[in-house]
Amino acid sequence: MTGTRENKLLPATRLVTGGRSPDPHVVNPPVYRASTHLYADCADLRAGTKSNADGNFFYGRRGSPTQWALAEALTALEPGAQGTVLYPSGVAAIAGALLAVLKPGDVLLVTDNAYDPSRAMAKGLLARLGIDARFFDPLDIAAYRAAFCDRTRAVWLENPGSLTMEVCDIPALADEARERGAVSLIDNTWATSLGFPALDRGCDITVQALTKHVGGHSDLMMGAASAGERWHRALRRTAQELGHVVSPDDAALALRGLRTMQLRLERSTRTALALAGWLSARPEVAHVLCPMLPSDTGHELWRRDFTGGCGLFSFVLSGRDDAARCRLIDALELFGIGYSWGGFESLALPFDVEPIRARMDWPRPGWQDGDRYAIRLSVGLEDQQDLIADLERALAAMEHQ
Ligand SMILES: *Cc1c(COP(=O)(O)O)cnc(C)c1O
Repeated sequence: MTGTRENKLLPATRLVTGGRSPDPHVVNPPVYRASTHLYADCADLRAGTKSNADGNFFYGRRGSPTQWALAEALTALEPGAQGTVLYPSGVAAIAGALLAVLKPGDVLLVTDNAYDPSRAMAKGLLARLGIDARFFDPLDIAAYRAAFCDRTRAVWLENPGSLTMEVCDIPALADEARERGAVSLIDNTWATSLGFPALDRGCDITVQALTKHVGGHSDLMMGAASAGERWHRALRRTAQELGHVVSPDDAALALRGLRTMQLRLERSTRTALALAGWLSARPEVAHVLCPMLPSDTGHELWRRDFTGGCGLFSFVLSGRDDAARCRLIDALELFGIGYSWGGFESLALPFDVEPIRARMDWPRPGWQDGDRYAIRLSVGLEDQQDLIADLERALAAMEHQ
């Protein structure tokens, strides 16, 4: 159900109407667990082979109605998108999008606060293919402008920055890329298209790890890339060449997660904001890195460009060491220790910035010497009071060696 009617509906409604069952008597599309489509006869086989459109069930690797329903629902949520390609993980979506755009000899500008596996891909896979990845500070527009050369083919963006949560001026960065003839791609996992309509803000291709907010229940791995007509065609072609396909069972789970995504995001945003405010007032905490918080350096830009937040933010301990940080995290009972985020359950993760930045300073300029050891929280759907009590207990445990 895409097209003009869909485009007029508001996002909360599109979450419900997008990618519904083609059968008017059933709410959800069936799970087509199928590699093989049986053709009626040779003429049918030949006709089927000719069409490479979504909706033409040719062979399982090109998807079935279950995967198309999810892709269609994601496209309906992304203003400016013509289509969406699904990938078996968020990292596969990043690789699929970059490989759809880049060729040997190209230069890729990569935001210095990109998700660490994106950095690793730039320095590993892309370097091996003869693509020259160069990191830039997304807060320094003059240096970014100066970084372009006549081989710059694309710009890799992320907003807010991974772990350190800096908000950058995406419309300005994407405009500059367009003027210089470069393609802009963004990792929009934090906000999703509900919180940051990336194509509307000037990006050419938007990538999400569906593993996080869309799945929402810590039970699947998946990624997606959405774009307007030109880049959707390139994404699709490259995904088919690479043999990327997602399981129909996982696609059905992701579609189920998507239906409640706005509710979950609203709730976890509210709780995260309460926790961030509470942590800001604690003497053990030097800095809270949360763009939704009015005191955050990125808050003004966040208010200008975002239409929503989520439960993921970080904080930096004041003058404590790594052992103190571990005592705090180990004492938490409601926050699990683990990767990923965007699930219904809260998580805490220690992180160290120095090894994963080339251009941006850490500790940030102007901070006290000892403000260095940081923790990222993914706030889930638990009661806010219980989470604050858990943090309070863990901060006390940190101080008792
Ligand atoms: C988790 C994550 C990814 C990768 O997703 P996977 O499904 O784990 O491969 C990409 N970008 C960001 C910002 C992420 O947090």
